[in-house]
Amino acid sequence: MEKTPERKIQFTYSIILIILIPILIFANFFWQTFTQRKIFNAELRQKTETTRNILTGALGSAETDSKIIQEKIDQIAKTDGHLKEITVLKPAKSGFLAVASNRPEGIGVALESSQNTNVWVNQKSDFAFITDTAQTPTQRLGQTTSVLKDSAGKKWGLLVLKIDLSDIWRQTESNSKQTLAILIVITLLILLLLINHFRFVEYAISYRRLKEVDESKDEFISVASHELKTPLAAIRGYLEMMLEGLTGKIDLVARDHLAKILSNTQRLDILVSELLDVSRLDQERMPFDLQPVDAAKIVGQIIKEVGEEAAKKKLKITQEKPPQVLPQVFADPDRLHQAIHNLTTNAIKYTNRGSITFKYQMADKKLKITVKDTGIGMSEADSRRLFEKFYRIKNEKTADIPGTGLGLWIAKEIAKRMNGEITFTSKENVGSEFSLILPIIKE
Ligand code: ADP
Repeated sequence: MEKTPERKIQFTYSIILIILIPILIFANFFWQTFTQRKIFNAELRQKTETTRNILTGALGSAETDSKIIQEKIDQIAKTDGHLKEITVLKPAKSGFLAVASNRPEGIGVALESSQNTNVWVNQKSDFAFITDTAQTPTQRLGQTTSVLKDSAGKKWGLLVLKIDLSDIWRQTESNSKQTLAILIVITLLILLLLINHFRFVEYAISYRRLKEVDESKDEFISVASHELKTPLAAIRGYLEMMLEGLTGKIDLVARDHLAKILSNTQRLDILVSELLDVSRLDQERMPFDLQPVDAAKIVGQIIKEVGEEAAKKKLKITQEKPPQVLPQVFADPDRLHQAIHNLTTNAIKYTNRGSITFKYQMADKKLKITVKDTGIGMSEADSRRLFEKFYRIKNEKTADIPGTGLGLWIAKEIAKRMNGEITFTSKENVGSEFSLILPIIKE
């Protein structure tokens, strides 16, 4: 399908959203993770340094016996599971010697490290993260070395301290992984929703275009039917003049042909009028002048108008005596005439023998005008789409009956505009009852 500018904008907008939303979600996640790691490292450093400060005090400000230092270290190590290593070094001939440690294998080991020497010489503690995040991603350890001094301020040893926060680190990492998994699912759901949303937008655009096409179709029907009315009236006029003999004598065969042309012209005229009414009702251009109307009087007129048609089929057409003095209905007299006329011509068309009867009933401040016939009726299945535009029941009984499928739709729309409705009951081969229910005027 060719892309309209509107569709192109919509398409670009969708693509931007589809790309942007995941980028924003994941950028935010990775930024959060990065900040979290920084905070974690700062906390590890702080904990290591605070513990170191406490330990340098706790291990005594005086140089003591290695055994006593070892006892103290063992005691302290028990208090905090994160204390991975506490070692006290004393300067030896070359480098330093571990004299006490919570790691038994470390005791008595001679250590020669420039790092220790630096701390010893400069008397300044150091700090380092001793795990490589790339190689041991699940471990987080901090190490510090500081000088131990006696109360006189004389340095006598070094304290090496390692703090291990790997367990907290692993928990944080696992939480991050869970969050990432949830984010991936949420992003997929959002993308699905977006795709669905764009489908709905597509439908909305198509719907609008369809409406436009529908409107131009209505416009076309309205103009075309209007333009057809005048030539049709002229054709009818000339045909009637010829049939009346006003234009000269015509033989029987020609008269018969002319009569057929006139009858077809009349059918065409009805079709054009109905099409015009449909477009007027669709576009709400049909005027309704609601006023008190005597429905029985209108029914009387219609009976006269269709009398000839009914007589041709030998149908008896009568009005039942109303149960009470009928109140007036609140309606447009011409439209009320049109709606009842449609129901009556249908009753005549679809009845081969018997009668057509008009009945009146009052219920709930409304008047029910019923046109009852003894015609072909219809099945329940056939009657379901009865009030749709252009719908006609197709079977062998209706095959030869001309019609447009617009009469009932027009009658229903007219009833609606006059705050009323049309109901019906029908039985195949028994007959139908179509009722127009209208509000009565207030006393
Ligand atoms: P049409 O011009 O075909 O009569 P309508 O809209 O007036 O169009 O009616 C729709 C269809 O309903 C008709 O084709 C017919 O099959 C059915 N119908 C309407 N009135 C009656 C009736 N009184 N008895 C039986 N069938 C009817």
